[in-house]
Amino acid sequence: MNILVINTGSSSLKYQLLDMDEHVLLASGVMERIGETQGVLTHKNFSKGKEHKTKKELPIQNHQEAMHLMAGLITKKIDAVGHRVVQGGEAFQSATLINEDVKNAVQKNNPLAPLHNPPNLIGIQLAEDLFPGKPQVAVFDTNFHQTMPEKAYLYALPYEYYTSYKIRRYGFHGTSHKYVANKTAQLMGKKPEEVNLITLHLGNGCSICAVKKGECQDTSMGMTPLAGVMMGTRSGDLDPAIFGYLMNNTGMTQLEIDEVLNKKSGLKGICGLNDLRDIHEKSAQGDKLAKLAVEMFAYQIKKYIGAYAAVLGHVDGLVFTAGVGENDEIVRAKALTDMSVFGIELDLDKNDIRSPEPRTIHGANSRLQVWVVPTNEELQIATETCQVLKKTI
Ligand code: AMP
Repeated sequence: MNILVINTGSSSLKYQLLDMDEHVLLASGVMERIGETQGVLTHKNFSKGKEHKTKKELPIQNHQEAMHLMAGLITKKIDAVGHRVVQGGEAFQSATLINEDVKNAVQKNNPLAPLHNPPNLIGIQLAEDLFPGKPQVAVFDTNFHQTMPEKAYLYALPYEYYTSYKIRRYGFHGTSHKYVANKTAQLMGKKPEEVNLITLHLGNGCSICAVKKGECQDTSMGMTPLAGVMMGTRSGDLDPAIFGYLMNNTGMTQLEIDEVLNKKSGLKGICGLNDLRDIHEKSAQGDKLAKLAVEMFAYQIKKYIGAYAAVLGHVDGLVFTAGVGENDEIVRAKALTDMSVFGIELDLDKNDIRSPEPRTIHGANSRLQVWVVPTNEELQIATETCQVLKKTI
């Protein structure tokens, strides 16, 4: 069965076509700067181990045009479509076959994810038009975190804010956390329900998750993806009084402060850069703020590991994934320094090896296993799409 996985952002479209019987990638692509004067289209077809790449700069007016371009470039048959949807609220515990009720529920969750859910819904509607009669499945970023207990997902606000406004921790990157947790258990020779893991999705967005026997117990992102550990441009956790203080003392509006917290904070806020490759380069040249940004980032990661070790009680392993987690040995080493109290000991030589393969980086005497496991959200979405179809069709 060939599954087309679609991930629509506000100005982008990412897709992959996967043959789930043969376990091969048939095509992939990304269209960026949709709606701007000049867009970029990159498409790859894979056949018999060979890659055929198309890259073009052209105006892509809207998502409809992007989806039509995609459909024209894909030469293989499509049996079903799996959609990444960011916010499923409390309505969805798992991946779901899309019907009118599901689309209405996605729309109802728009206020909780105003930047993400509307383009996700557009992607669903366009795919229904383009591939009529093909089953469409929604896989929500929030699904995996729905197992969190109340004590972990509630904020200490008046309780009616939860019942009336649905203010609670939802967590994000769930597809990635689920994928690497299951994959790591498998690599350990165990079932997901036999291990406790702390999964660290560290990319431009960052989230950390306490996974007990395959189920999420707690996660660092909150009602929105702004919370938790500091990120490329997002602040992460703050004293909530800072927001009002900034409004009163700087004259900034709520929208302007939102923009600062989402786009001008985190690593960028401290040192002016958000890509760790650039930050390390600047740090090596003696830039104090670049060095400080890395120290702060690693310190915050370390604090979450300690907190989630306490939440889990017993931890079998840590799993690093995403752009920073998979590639940045400096951040991993700093975050795991002096962690012997938790039974964590890094092998610095293994940590320094760059590889696209899953690997361990812990020392011989480490009580916990430390893994680097590349994430594959598209494969997870395609897998869950197949599971839904097997159950419902
Ligand atoms: P992601 O959001 O998962 O695509 O991660 C993007 C971030 O990963 C970038 O902003 C960099 O900070 C980091 N990154 C990507 N590749 C590398 C690399 N080779 N070395 C260090 N950091 C990297």
